[in-house]
Amino acid sequence: MAPCFSFVRRFVFVAVCLGAAAVSAEDRTTPIRIGVLAYRGSDEAHRDWRPTLEHLERALPQNKFHVETGSAAFLTAAVAAHRLDFIITNPGHFLDLKIDYSARALATEQDLAGPLPSESIGAAVFVKAPQAGIQGLADLRNTTVVATSPDAFGFRAVWRELQERGIDPFKNLSLTFVGFPVDEVIKAVRSGRAEAGIIRSCALETMIAESAVVRDEFRVVGRRQAGALGCEVSTRLYPGWPFVKVAQTSPAMASDVAKALLAMQPGADEKIWTQPDDYSSVQELDRVLKIGPYAPFRRLGLLDLLWENRLWAALAATAAAWWFVHAARVSYLVKKRTRELQKAHEAARIRGEQMEHTVRLSLMGEMASSLAHEINQPLAAILTYARGCERRIDGGADVEGVREAIGRIATQAERAGDIVRRMRDFSRKHASQQVPVDVSKVFRDAVALFEPTAKAAGIDVVADIPAHLPFVRADRLQLEEVVLNLLQNALDAVAAQGDRKIRLRVVADEMTIRISVTDNGPGLKPEVKEHLFEPFFTTKPNGLGLGLSLSQTIVEAHGGRLSADSGSQGGAVFGFYLPLIEKPVHV
Ligand code: ADP
Repeated sequence: MAPCFSFVRRFVFVAVCLGAAAVSAEDRTTPIRIGVLAYRGSDEAHRDWRPTLEHLERALPQNKFHVETGSAAFLTAAVAAHRLDFIITNPGHFLDLKIDYSARALATEQDLAGPLPSESIGAAVFVKAPQAGIQGLADLRNTTVVATSPDAFGFRAVWRELQERGIDPFKNLSLTFVGFPVDEVIKAVRSGRAEAGIIRSCALETMIAESAVVRDEFRVVGRRQAGALGCEVSTRLYPGWPFVKVAQTSPAMASDVAKALLAMQPGADEKIWTQPDDYSSVQELDRVLKIGPYAPFRRLGLLDLLWENRLWAALAATAAAWWFVHAARVSYLVKKRTRELQKAHEAARIRGEQMEHTVRLSLMGEMASSLAHEINQPLAAILTYARGCERRIDGGADVEGVREAIGRIATQAERAGDIVRRMRDFSRKHASQQVPVDVSKVFRDAVALFEPTAKAAGIDVVADIPAHLPFVRADRLQLEEVVLNLLQNALDAVAAQGDRKIRLRVVADEMTIRISVTDNGPGLKPEVKEHLFEPFFTTKPNGLGLGLSLSQTIVEAHGGRLSADSGSQGGAVFGFYLPLIEKPVHV
C-alpha cells in the first residue's frame, strides 16, 4: 500500500509543477492592452505617450503591449467588449468609466516643468485675433461656436463656465461639433465658419510650436490665471490625465503596471506619473452639469422630461386641447339650450296665463247676466229703503226708523260691493303665485260667485265646506277658477234634467284636502271620458273645450290630481286633492 501511495504523491507533485510552469509561461506572453484617447489623431497620440509606453515595455519585458487609439466613445466600446486592460484618458472620460466599468486611476500624469498635478488641464475658447466683438465668455451668447465633441473634456470645462454666466451652450449658442482631431476646430474658426472655437488647454500653444498655427492668428477669450500651466486658458483647471485600470484588469497586472509607472524617470518631455490625484473637482463638474453619473438628475427637469416624452406630451397636449374645446362647446350648447328652454318656458307661462284669463272671462260671460241680476237685488232694496227714509223724514222725525233703514241700506250696499269685488278679482289678469291660503274661504267665495247663476237656473247648490280647514300653498284665483269650472260644467250637465242637484263637498285628512263636485246629470259616456282633459275637446255648441284641461294643469301645478268618474247613482263626480302645507304632528 505504501509504495503505491508514494507513487501517487510523486505523480501529483510532478503534475502540479508542470502546471505551474505552464501558467508562468502564459504570464510571460500575456498581452497588456492599452487604450489611448486621441484628441489630435492616432499619430499624435502615439507620439505623446511614446515615453510612457517604451518605459512600460522596458519595465515589463515579459508582457507584450498592444495600443489602441480613438475617441472616448471608441475606447468605452472597447472596454465594454473586454478589449482593453488600461486606458490613458482625460479626467471626464475617466469618471464616466468609473461608474460603468469600475475604473480606477493608478497614476496621474505630471509635467515636472509645469503645473501641479491637480491643475493640469482646462480649456481655451479662442477667436480670430481681429475679432473685437468677443472679449469675455459672456460675449459668446448668440455667436457661432465650434468644438470637437460634447464628450470632450475641454468642452465640458467651458460649458460649466458658460453656465455660471447664464448661458446654455445648447440653447444660447449656435453650436457645431466637428469631431477629432482638434485641428478641425482650428480650421472652422480660421475659415470663418465659426466665430469661436473650444479646444483643450495648451493645444493652441502646441500647434504654434509645430507651426500649424501662426502665433498671433488667434486670441484666447476670457483669459484666466493659469498658474504654472504656461498656456492660456478660459476655464478653471482640473487634475491631469489618469492612467486607468478597468474591472476586468487582473489585480496582479494592475499592480505591476502601477509600480512600473510610479518608477518612471522623467524624459526629455519632463513628464512622469505620480500617485493618482483627487478627481473630486471633476466629479463636481459632472454634478454641476448633470452629466455622467448625474445625468438622471438632469432628466428630472420638467422640460427635459417633456422633451424626452415629446410624442406622448404632444398627444396629451392635443387631447387636452380637444377636451378644452369640447368642454367649451358643450358649455356653450348647454347655455344656449338653457336660454332656449327658459324662453320656451316663459312663452308657455304667458300662453298659460292668457288661456286661464280667457277661460275666466268665458266663465264670467256665462255668469254675467245672473250676477247683474244679483247686484240688482241689493240696489232695488237700497232704493226701497232710501224711499222709505224719505217718507219717514217727510212724515215727521222718526229717527229710530230712519236709522234702521240706513243700516239696511249699508248692508245691501256691502252685499252689492262684495259681488262686484268678487267679479273684479276673478276676472283680473294676474301672474301665478302660490302662497299659504285659507281654502275654506276660497271655496266659499267661489260658491258665492256661482250661486246667482245657479239660482237663475233654478238649481240648488249644496255646499259642504268645513269652516276651518288647514292652510294650503296655492294660487287663490286659480283654485277659484277650477272650482267654478267644475260647478259650471255640472250646471251645464244638469240643465236638461228635471230634478237638478249639484253638491260640492270638501273633506280634509292628515295629508290632503279633497274637493268633489257631484251632479245628477247624464254622466260620462266612455267616448267623452276618454277625451275629457284634452284641450279644445267640447260637446257644447258654444264650449271652448279648455276648462278641464286648464283645471288639470292648475291642480297638478299645486301637487294634486284631477279625476272624473261616474256617480254611484248616475251623474258625474269631478274631484281633486291638494297636499297640506305640512303634516299634522301626532303626540
Ligand atoms: P267646455 O265646458 O267648454 O266644453 P270643458 O273642458 O270644461 O270644456 O269640458 C269638456 C267636455 O267634458 C264638455 O264639453 C263635456 O262634454 C264634458 N263634461 C265636463 N263636465 C261634465 C259633467 N259634469 N257631466 C258630463 N259631461 C261633462
